[in-house]
Amino acid sequence: MPKYEAVIGLETHIQLNTISKIFCACKADSWEDPPNTNICPVCTGLPGVLPVLNKVVVEKAVLLAAALQAEPQPVSYFDRKNYFYPDLPKGYQISQYDRPLARGGFLDVPMPEGYTRRVNIDKLHIEEDAGKTVNQDGSRLIDFNRCGVPLIEMVTGPDLRSADEAAQYLIRLRQLLRWLDVSEADMEKGHLRADANVSIRLEGEQVLNTKTEIKNVNSIDNVRMAISKEIERQMRAVGAGEPIEAWTLQWDDSSQSLSVMRTKETEADYRYFREPDLLPVHLDEAWRKSILADLPELPLARRERFIAQYELPEYDADILTGERSLSDYFEAAVEAYGGDPKRVSNWLINDVLRMLNERSLAAGDLRLTPEYLAAIVKLVDQGVVNTNTGKSLLDRVQESGRSPAEIIEAEGLAQVGDEDALRAIVAEVLAENPEQVATYQGGKEGLLGWFLGQVMKKSRGKADPQLTRQLLQEMLAKA
Ligand SMILES: [Zn+2]
Repeated sequence: MPKYEAVIGLETHIQLNTISKIFCACKADSWEDPPNTNICPVCTGLPGVLPVLNKVVVEKAVLLAAALQAEPQPVSYFDRKNYFYPDLPKGYQISQYDRPLARGGFLDVPMPEGYTRRVNIDKLHIEEDAGKTVNQDGSRLIDFNRCGVPLIEMVTGPDLRSADEAAQYLIRLRQLLRWLDVSEADMEKGHLRADANVSIRLEGEQVLNTKTEIKNVNSIDNVRMAISKEIERQMRAVGAGEPIEAWTLQWDDSSQSLSVMRTKETEADYRYFREPDLLPVHLDEAWRKSILADLPELPLARRERFIAQYELPEYDADILTGERSLSDYFEAAVEAYGGDPKRVSNWLINDVLRMLNERSLAAGDLRLTPEYLAAIVKLVDQGVVNTNTGKSLLDRVQESGRSPAEIIEAEGLAQVGDEDALRAIVAEVLAENPEQVATYQGGKEGLLGWFLGQVMKKSRGKADPQLTRQLLQEMLAKA
């Protein structure tokens, strides 16, 4: 049985998170806004209007290009891509064709198996989005809100070899887009859209066989599933001696299946020509430098540094660099804590992340500042509060915005570590439960945990667990 491998390329459209659209002052993000409320004569293509380029679009695109090691071009041009579609009011889309904003570049994608896949970027340019056609009760409705929303179109080389690799590429791209603050990159909201080109070939061959294109997939899990179904289909077809045709396939979310959208793939003639209403984009050295001054340390580099500098396991470093504000938070907390970074990492991964997920917050939005977290960990280290109280302090600080020390003081949460006070509580518990004492002394030492629970209850959770255990063992032996 000959062995086949998949050859996959991804075309992504990235919605930039600018305040206004690419060529007019309309609000760019219309998520949950009523149809046709963020529109004007420019983005609906009325006669006599002129587009004005939003500088921030260029700046965000240059930042992304630089993060991908692509070469931002000193001069690039806008072109008209002509086609007729009801949701394209001008009859053309302003895009870039032969002189795009940046050339070259790649994204390294670490795979869970341990190897890294380098994915080349074939094309990166800026363009405007078209509107949206909605079929409703037998009518075709058009929403122009999305017209003129700034996009980056990015096409990879045929460098991915499995559905999992394609999914990991999107996960890392989404991480990078959010890290750079160029896009919200939410696939469900259409901020990040991906079409996949899929073909198969005998392993070791260099040819590119006929490919199919998968469209309309709106989550990373579905991209993985759609590609893997399409690879299986192509393998079955080739096994049965059937040719692969250049279909365009559409993913259907409800039935989790692919269907043929178009069977004959003819390269459309878009009659590209230079956009006469816009000047070329001149990215001079000063502008370029001022944009690149904002280029932060990138996620993978930071992950490596966390492993080297803080001696974190790869697992921790990966989670903590999943999001930029979380990695900033971690570093600030480590600095404030001054002790073992792994201890801060444990508190963050086990407890703070849960809080962020439950409250849908980013680390930078927390009222539980890195300094407060460090203070809580220190209080637990010093035995001022026990671990359970320490964990409950996280939520209390977050809710009240007060410092951990203030809350401990106000609510009397300091651990009862005073031996005489604890001894009195233990004695009370033993006196109240003569039967359990007898059972324990009869050999059922597993009851110790139960006694510990009773002491905790009586002390309202403040007893020092270690000292309590010690006292219980000692006093039960005597009792
Ligand atoms: Zn507009």
